[in-house]
Amino acid sequence: MSSRETFDPQIVDIVIIGSGMAGLAAARCAQAAGRSVCILDKGRRIGGRVSTRRANEFTFNHGAQFLTARQPDFVSACEAAQDAGALRPWRVAGREAFCGAPTMRDLPAFLGEGLTIRQQVEITAITRDDGVITLHDATGPVARGRQALVTAPAPQAARLLEPVAPELAATARSAAYAPCWTGMYGFADRDMPDITGPISADSGPVGWGCWESGRPGAVVGAAALVVQAAPDWSKAELERDADPIAAALLTAWQSLTGIVLPRPTYAAAHRWRYARVVQVADADAPRQTAEGMIAIAGDWIVGARVEDAFMAGQRAMASMLEISAGA
Ligand SMILES: Cc1cc2nc3c(=O)[nH]c(=O)nc-3n(C[C@H](O)[C@H](O)[C@H](O)COP(=O)(O)OP(=O)(O)OC[C@H]3O[C@@H](n4cnc5c(N)ncnc54)[C@H](O)[C@@H]3O)c2cc1C
Repeated sequence: MSSRETFDPQIVDIVIIGSGMAGLAAARCAQAAGRSVCILDKGRRIGGRVSTRRANEFTFNHGAQFLTARQPDFVSACEAAQDAGALRPWRVAGREAFCGAPTMRDLPAFLGEGLTIRQQVEITAITRDDGVITLHDATGPVARGRQALVTAPAPQAARLLEPVAPELAATARSAAYAPCWTGMYGFADRDMPDITGPISADSGPVGWGCWESGRPGAVVGAAALVVQAAPDWSKAELERDADPIAAALLTAWQSLTGIVLPRPTYAAAHRWRYARVVQVADADAPRQTAEGMIAIAGDWIVGARVEDAFMAGQRAMASMLEISAGA
């Protein structure tokens, strides 16, 4: 598709890069304040790392596994999602938590209702001219706004921001992530031997393993298992091909549980290069440009969890709204 086909010449109040939890929380906040807002995201589907993959007859929640809610605004959002059936309580890993229902992606889908979101648009450049921010993809300009919020994971945000807001790129470079290899396995037999609840371990290879049928609210279909590697193992094996990783993680899960599985009919591994935040951005580093036209948000501003991303998006937008109200 050429830029002429995708370019929206209308100038909205706020353009947001990223339809993950941070971008969605920010957009909801802007919309509630009566601002026009448009989200652009390079992924096929809404939600970023709160994600679900469908492959053949299998469903895998291969990103965030569950979420916890402590901050009042996030608790309210979770209650609304729960009322709508998009979230279920889940006591897991010794915590009172929630999971998306029937899939993790149902939470971002719920939060994104009524927002203008354009998926599969990868922003490659941001320019600023005459009080207007223009976002570009590889073919040319795609959206314009009076303010822009970048919620991509920190290393990707740094690359985008360097030419237009080097001070924010430096903030992004002060954050760090651990990677995570995730194995996904589908089986022909619906009745698997001794299907256990989720397991978690501190040291690798396996950090977490969960049968999809064990999740509250899951639509029980073909047997599907998700195994996520521990951070150290993921880091050591990060540049390996996906196929041997998928095989190694399944073998490791069987050793850990003592359960011998039949051969899966589907096996794949996903490399999350930026999975969990291990170091948030410097507390004193700027979160927006001096005139307030460009701002940053994402889990890497606050912490390593879904809730942190949501709160980062909401706080960034509150500050952007304050600046634009005073302009
Ligand atoms: C394997 C794994 C397990 C996890 N488990 C848990 C858990 O159990 N509990 C928990 O609370 N948290 C967990 N997390 C962390 C949680 O998923 C994240 O903290 C949170 O989802 C981050 O949201 P975000 O909006 O900051 O970023 P993201 O969800 O990464 O959203 C950023 C978005 O920006 C888009 N983007 C990036 N660059 C561009 C570009 N150039 N143009 C357009 N779009 C772009 C991306 O496509 C993405 O959709 C896990 C994460 C992973 C990967």
